[in-house]
Amino acid sequence: MSSKIYSVCVIGGGSAGTMAALRTILNNDECLFFPGSPKDKKKSRALWVKKIENMPAHLSYKRGIEEPNAETIKWIQESSFKANFHLQKNVGVSSIQKNEHDIFEIIDSQGKTFLAHFVILCTGVMDVQPKIQGSIEAVFDYANAQTIDYCLICDGHHVLEKKTVVIGHDNSAAWVAIMLLERYQCPEMTILTNGQEANFQKETQKLIDLYKIRVLTSPIKGVLGENKGATLKGFELEDANIVQAEMSFVAMGMIVYNELAKQLGAELDERGFVKAAENGLTSVQGLYVAGDLKANTRKQVYTAWDHAVSAATAINLILRTRNRQKLLD
Ligand SMILES: Cc1cc2nc3c(=O)[nH]c(=O)nc-3n(C[C@H](O)[C@H](O)[C@H](O)COP(=O)(O)OP(=O)(O)OC[C@H]3O[C@@H](n4cnc5c(N)ncnc54)[C@H](O)[C@@H]3O)c2cc1C
Repeated sequence: MSSKIYSVCVIGGGSAGTMAALRTILNNDECLFFPGSPKDKKKSRALWVKKIENMPAHLSYKRGIEEPNAETIKWIQESSFKANFHLQKNVGVSSIQKNEHDIFEIIDSQGKTFLAHFVILCTGVMDVQPKIQGSIEAVFDYANAQTIDYCLICDGHHVLEKKTVVIGHDNSAAWVAIMLLERYQCPEMTILTNGQEANFQKETQKLIDLYKIRVLTSPIKGVLGENKGATLKGFELEDANIVQAEMSFVAMGMIVYNELAKQLGAELDERGFVKAAENGLTSVQGLYVAGDLKANTRKQVYTAWDHAVSAATAINLILRTRNRQKLLD
């Protein structure tokens, strides 16, 4: 293990992590950056995001997070700040703890140990996928072609005047169906619980009835469509029902990548998101969180950017204050 102590370590290379690294570098602070191993990347939301339509200036990217992030990393590596940037390309973090000097000890996915004063954790979340005949693979082509979507704020507009299916069984799935219907006047709205019992609150059920939203509980047998998922036609159910649909949304909750936060004993909310102050400071001194992992926040690219800027700037304030104090002492 090298005895060098980096000022700031950013863990995660999606929307929040790349912005955290960029802001740290632009603040002229040293940044040790772990964007994740290929395995980490494969299970991240960043990899799944295609065209981003709800943010200006992103329409030209086929991969709305990965491509602009790669441009940013290249720019940092060629900039006047490059000496401060310590990119651990294709490397993730396996474990983290604080040592007796209150310094973070970070073990990467290759077994190397690094030290840092501050950490910005940006490991994100992943949407739970529906299992169809025991596997999640049936939805992949459609998710890639965005005829099956996950994020109402990002992609809700795709259902405009389209027959739509929401896959999920709890109150939040019901609300996705209600909001899509209210906003985009879908001619038909169906909730497929995929074999689960529908679990809606009384008030929600009233709206489901009022809007004539169908709720079908049979397990899904298959997805019907053409053109490698670019055309969705509907869903076949195990009870032999065929449900026509041109668009679908999955609303089954999220897997939260909070393992490193847990290792440090950071406080989590009941769903596993990391609790933090507005500037991202968690219950662990020196540990900041940004992006989808942060509790009580909108899960979007621009909110991830905002968290990342807040965290990097809060750390810069501490570093500058400490240096100033040394001069004054
Ligand atoms: C299908 C889909 C479409 C979406 N479309 C939009 C959209 O149009 N507009 C919008 O604003 N938002 C959209 N979102 C939401 C957006 O993707 C997220 O809000 C955003 O990616 C959150 O950024 P993040 O950095 O928290 O997580 P991510 O961007 O998912 O990044 C997580 C990062 O953590 C890394 N990582 C994980 N574990 C480790 C580890 N142990 N060590 C090191 N690195 C690790 C991964 O490699 C990855 O780089 C969409 C989401 C989905 C699923």
